[in-house]
Amino acid sequence: MMTPKIVILGAGFGGLEAATLLRERLPSAEVTVIDKTDHFIIGFSKFDVMFGRRTAEAVKSYYADLAAGVHFVQDTITQINLEAKQVTTATASFAYDYLIVALGATLAPEATPGFVEGGHEFYSLAGAERLHPVLEAFTGGTILVSILGKPYKCPPAPYEAAFQLHDFFVQKGLRDAVTIKVLTPAPMPLPVAKGASAEIERRLAEREIALLTQHKVTALDLATQTATVEGKEPVAYDLFLGVPLHVPPAVVRASALGGWVAVDPHTLKTSFDNVYAVGDVTKIPVGKFGVPKAGAFAEAGARVVANDIINAVSGEANPMHFDGTGTCFLEFGAGQVAKINANFLGGPEPNVTLDGPSDAFRSDKEQFEQERIARWFG
Ligand SMILES: Cc1cc2nc3c(=O)[nH]c(=O)nc-3n(C[C@H](O)[C@H](O)[C@H](O)COP(=O)(O)OP(=O)(O)OC[C@H]3O[C@@H](n4cnc5c(N)ncnc54)[C@H](O)[C@@H]3O)c2cc1C
Repeated sequence: MMTPKIVILGAGFGGLEAATLLRERLPSAEVTVIDKTDHFIIGFSKFDVMFGRRTAEAVKSYYADLAAGVHFVQDTITQINLEAKQVTTATASFAYDYLIVALGATLAPEATPGFVEGGHEFYSLAGAERLHPVLEAFTGGTILVSILGKPYKCPPAPYEAAFQLHDFFVQKGLRDAVTIKVLTPAPMPLPVAKGASAEIERRLAEREIALLTQHKVTALDLATQTATVEGKEPVAYDLFLGVPLHVPPAVVRASALGGWVAVDPHTLKTSFDNVYAVGDVTKIPVGKFGVPKAGAFAEAGARVVANDIINAVSGEANPMHFDGTGTCFLEFGAGQVAKINANFLGGPEPNVTLDGPSDAFRSDKEQFEQERIARWFG
């Protein structure tokens, strides 16, 4: 192969890490990254925007500033043709020798009737931005934070939202006027982590945040301001915050990949020649659970895939396997940050433990963002 063409679909956690490694270790390759947006943001910075700690502009990193050596194309991917080894966008076509699918998960708020018209979400930057003035204007009543279905990104995030809502209204002197309830279809906050779940439950109770488990909200009734719950009584709200249903990106569903992408859990290869998938777009079952949709796993997967392509192109024999280990931060509010350490592929069942909170973890979290931006955007 003369100059290998490597095409990376999606410039999120997975795409950016893969592009950076390929640029560093395989400078002879032609690496193209395609994304429909012009900027990247770290998932948890949406909380900063939602609570008014930073502006939307301040949390964006523009792809125009990507480290040199990566060819970035801003365009919408409209077709992935695995037979022809070609990707089509709204305005161009790209042939590839190696393809990395890192298109993430798509939010589908429209799949829950009434949600778009009557609810708010904090899973997109635009949603977090819209929510901020609404929270500022809220002077009392019931707020529901509802997980609308599985799978969803960053499983602790809705609980982090609830803890920070508590702080927000304490600081405003309004906490007594605000009732906060978290609704989840699951039997506990993080079913894969019983210890962490117990700790989250304890801290919710301490802050008088109600937890309604096995509550699957299927619709919002805008006339009565109630959430319809499968098999249970409706729950009234004044402000509804939902984690929208997540679906595979439409372009992936329409391709031969068919939906959440099945991969070899250790190599992240799909069943198609030289086609890999990493991050939220994949489905990696582990016992009765699955590798979670989180940046840490997308990034770790990208390292394995980039390494495999580097080996194949350069003839190096330096194998590396995805081991399903990763660390996520858990924000309890009031500056208290814990770590969730996960090992998903080390045994028949995942092993997930909670560490902290500690002051050191708070600065680790700040560094986490700074390091990635510095590394990817040079
Ligand atoms: C509130 C919140 C808090 C979070 N906190 C954490 C945390 O603390 N730790 C952690 O590890 N993770 C966290 N996450 C999760 C993390 O953000 C995601 O898991 C991570 O971004 C997944 O990376 P990815 O590369 O798979 O996909 P993404 O980062 O979602 O990237 C996919 C990219 O594909 C692009 N794309 C999709 N379709 C098309 C198309 N048709 N054409 C062109 N481009 C397209 C998108 O624009 C996007 O840039 C959080 C998420 C949220 C919402």
